[in-house]
Amino acid sequence: MALANWAGNHVYGAAELHRPATLEHLRAIVARAPRVHALGSRHSFSDVADSAQLVAVDGLPADVIVDPRAGTVTCGAGVRYGELAEPLAAQGLALHNLASLPHISIGGAIATATHGSGDANGNLATAIRAVELVTSDGDVLTVRRGEPDFDGVVVGLGALGVVTRVTLDVEPAYEVRQRVFEGLGWDALHEHFDAITAGGYSVSVFTRWGETVDQVWVKSRVTYAPELERAELFGAVAATLDRHPILGLDPVNCTPQLGVPGPWSDRLPHFRMGFTPSNGEEIQSEYHVARQCAEGAIRAVHALADTLRPVLQVSEIRTVAADELWMSPQYRRPSVALHFTWTREPEAVARVLVDLEAALAPFGARPHWGKAFRATAAEVAPLYERLPDFARLMQRLDARGAFRNDWLERHLVGGGP
Ligand SMILES: Cc1cc2nc3c(=O)[nH]c(=O)nc-3n(C[C@H](O)[C@H](O)[C@H](O)COP(=O)(O)OP(=O)(O)OC[C@H]3O[C@@H](n4cnc5c(N)ncnc54)[C@H](O)[C@@H]3O)c2cc1C
Repeated sequence: MALANWAGNHVYGAAELHRPATLEHLRAIVARAPRVHALGSRHSFSDVADSAQLVAVDGLPADVIVDPRAGTVTCGAGVRYGELAEPLAAQGLALHNLASLPHISIGGAIATATHGSGDANGNLATAIRAVELVTSDGDVLTVRRGEPDFDGVVVGLGALGVVTRVTLDVEPAYEVRQRVFEGLGWDALHEHFDAITAGGYSVSVFTRWGETVDQVWVKSRVTYAPELERAELFGAVAATLDRHPILGLDPVNCTPQLGVPGPWSDRLPHFRMGFTPSNGEEIQSEYHVARQCAEGAIRAVHALADTLRPVLQVSEIRTVAADELWMSPQYRRPSVALHFTWTREPEAVARVLVDLEAALAPFGARPHWGKAFRATAAEVAPLYERLPDFARLMQRLDARGAFRNDWLERHLVGGGP
């Protein structure tokens, strides 16, 4: 089974990939597999989803049920975010946020705490109101917000079970405009960081750590757009043509800019649903620091610019609100996320990550679970105060260790229960 992840930097070692069409079949597969893991849309950059056997849930019925009265949408966990846009639009509803591309499965996104940007926006897992999962003995469990295990289950890293259905919060549909500002100075970024990230509903700073910050993408709800009339942002100038986050690349796959209003689903992601996303030939890493550490962390990365640049395509700086989900990198911490799109050179990237993680360690940086990082279980443990609770949950829901994989041993529970 020579199946690779989206970026092609990991070939799954699993001998079998199951794609059951019914819940009963999925339960039987999981119950009899000695080692198994759920596979989403394969957008992670590591072996996080790998195991002896893999099970995909996108063969189960999507069965999208919008409930405007409850303010929810319920669907199969294999559904991709972009696929919810139409059924939600039909009822005048929307999600609170999206990642940079809409092609990612909901089950995989929440398992790794995938996020978009916005000071007041929690990661995508925070929109989850209930999950249904199949545990390793084949039982079906539904866990709802407010129940004791809920905050441990949602960002589950595939370690607790195979999530089959999800219920998400929705809200009235809204329109968004995005504008790109170019040439922000580093001093202006540091001095006005709070004002810049508060200047829109979702703000992304793109940089190659050069003389200036390259671009600031400001996405504003049409009803909330204090920056709309501005032609500049602390010295950065509004672009007059659509841009790609990587300077010089054709923006044809990017969502429309120049302040043109459009539905939330076609403005919050940087890349359009119907097109090949991003650049393809890449590896990504990302680290989350508490907001008060942002300036120090950004300066520490900037000081490494000459080391990073040979393998760096672009960096993105975003903000994410704090939450209560045990394994979320934003657990009880309003956060700034420092992202790196690397060239697809695994060995060179691995070498650079040694320096980068050393530079970010003093800031308590928590790695993005779905991206490339090196931190070992011993290094990760002090960053997650609820990790012992999560390990107990793993033990309780998966007593026979069917969902334990190499990635979990390496980064989370090595030497644990
Ligand atoms: C081009 C690109 C852009 C990206 N942009 C962003 C971004 O803007 N923000 C961000 O935060 N991340 C981003 N990511 C990272 C991505 O969102 C995460 O890696 C996410 O986990 C991928 O989801 P997936 O469905 O592909 O999961 P996979 O890679 O298939 O699996 C990831 C993890 O989820 C688990 N999982 C998957 N499905 C289930 C299920 N049904 N039940 C239980 N566990 C499950 C797997 O077991 C594994 O542990 C990006 C990735 C790419 C390739």
